[in-house]
Amino acid sequence: METTMTPGAGKILDVKDVTVSFAGFKALDDLNFSMEQGELRFVIGPNGAGKTTFLDCVTGKSRPQHGTVTFDNQINVLRTTEHRLAQLGIARKFQTPTVFGSLTVYENLETAAGFDDGIIRLFSSLSVDDKQKIQAMLELVGLQDRANVRAGTLAHGEKQWLEIGMLLVQEPKLLLLDEPVAGMTRRERNRTGELLQKIAKRCSIVVVEHDMDFVRNFATTVSVLHMGHLLCQGPVLQVQNDPRVIEVYLGRGRNSEKIAA
Ligand code: ADP
Ligand code: MG
Repeated sequence: METTMTPGAGKILDVKDVTVSFAGFKALDDLNFSMEQGELRFVIGPNGAGKTTFLDCVTGKSRPQHGTVTFDNQINVLRTTEHRLAQLGIARKFQTPTVFGSLTVYENLETAAGFDDGIIRLFSSLSVDDKQKIQAMLELVGLQDRANVRAGTLAHGEKQWLEIGMLLVQEPKLLLLDEPVAGMTRRERNRTGELLQKIAKRCSIVVVEHDMDFVRNFATTVSVLHMGHLLCQGPVLQVQNDPRVIEVYLGRGRNSEKIAA
């Protein structure tokens, strides 16, 4: 079942006035964030800005003290379990790749495609449809020549692409990626950027990212988080020249030079 996104079909994600406190410290402080169906949105911000906490709120892992989170125009995220949100189409990739090292690339995708309401079907019971889906996914993530290689022996970048493929075969509506290019070579980063642009045609994507070169090369719209709220948002060129953004990044090492470049 191929789902092609139609931009303009409403909001895939709408976060309003969300506050998350840890013992009085506000990790998110009246955060407002929304994006349309089919958008590829980059979220940047210094360490501790609240990026991961924001993703936690969207997946149901963290429950804000205040505010609302609406997924796909109508689903009240704060009243839905993490497991149910995953079934409804929210997929999240953490920074460290979590693939099954002793299974082949193909078997990893097979296992992911077999997930159905939380129950893993036997490999042999995969339908022809699923098999075609796995083949298409291998090609999309560029691992068709690595299908029979054990995932544990893949390069770091290849593992990340495999994990993205494992999420995509479940046909999510919203894909959340936390620093997907960390630890990648330049070539791997470029391939990842191209992959993200390709998969943005089939689902909405939030990319939390630190690498400013990567953001500059592949982002269109960027949202900047700072101290738990939205500092500014807009086209990448505009955002990187915004004095508030430059100030936030100043004195923070490599990122400050990169964003001001
Ligand atoms: P980012 O991903 O942007 O680096 P985080 O969302 O991880 O930021 O964290 C935002 C702030 O909230 C940080 O100051 C962090 O120390 C704090 N924080 C995050 N999770 C917890 C927690 N479980 N308990 C206490 N403080 C937390
Ligand atoms: Mg983080």
